[in-house]
Amino acid sequence: MTPVLLGKILWLAGIVGWCVIRYVPQRRALRTATAITRDRGRERAMLWTSFIGIFVVPAIYVASGQPRFADYGVAPAQIVLGGLACAGAMWLFRRTHKDLGRNWSATLKLRESHALVTTGIYRSLRHPMYAAFWLWTAAQALLLANWIAGPAGLVAFGFHFFMRVGREEQMLHEKFGEAYRDYAARTNRIIPWIY
Ligand code: SAH
Repeated sequence: MTPVLLGKILWLAGIVGWCVIRYVPQRRALRTATAITRDRGRERAMLWTSFIGIFVVPAIYVASGQPRFADYGVAPAQIVLGGLACAGAMWLFRRTHKDLGRNWSATLKLRESHALVTTGIYRSLRHPMYAAFWLWTAAQALLLANWIAGPAGLVAFGFHFFMRVGREEQMLHEKFGEAYRDYAARTNRIIPWIY
């Protein structure tokens, strides 16, 4: 098997894993009452942006090999690194869903009985689920040996992340006041001790 093919297979396995992990939280979210929805149109637009970069563009590449002009030769070590990033992203993604429970939503929302989670993986990071997305999009960039399909996820999610994260923190600050301010003061966003 060539490294290019292995990269594609690992990417596909990651996408399936991602969907399996999200299936139950997604179903539960549909049954959980919402108190406040923020930035509805903008949030939808960003969700689509991420979906195109993380799924549509790489899926076209994996299925058809297009855009071929952007292919490059890949070293096996890059695929190994991509596989490790993929495994790390899966673990973190599952962990964050467990810890966030019914407070999770795909777009900016506050649930009717929203609780501020500051334990588990949220003890030291405020946005570990977004960290999992960064890790997954880095895995995509490493696994797909194509200058467009590989980095598409990083670019799309990066845009989504920076458009959203400040507004999410603002919303939680308005809801939880001092408690959120204290929590924000003792945690980092996505990388322990750094950011
Ligand atoms: N930014 C978080 C959560 C992503 S899900 C992370 O990356 O892990 C997005 C929803 O989670 C938002 O609508 C917000 O209401 C909720 N949320 C974010 N941080 C939270 C926290 N510490 N406790 C409870 N809910 C939180």
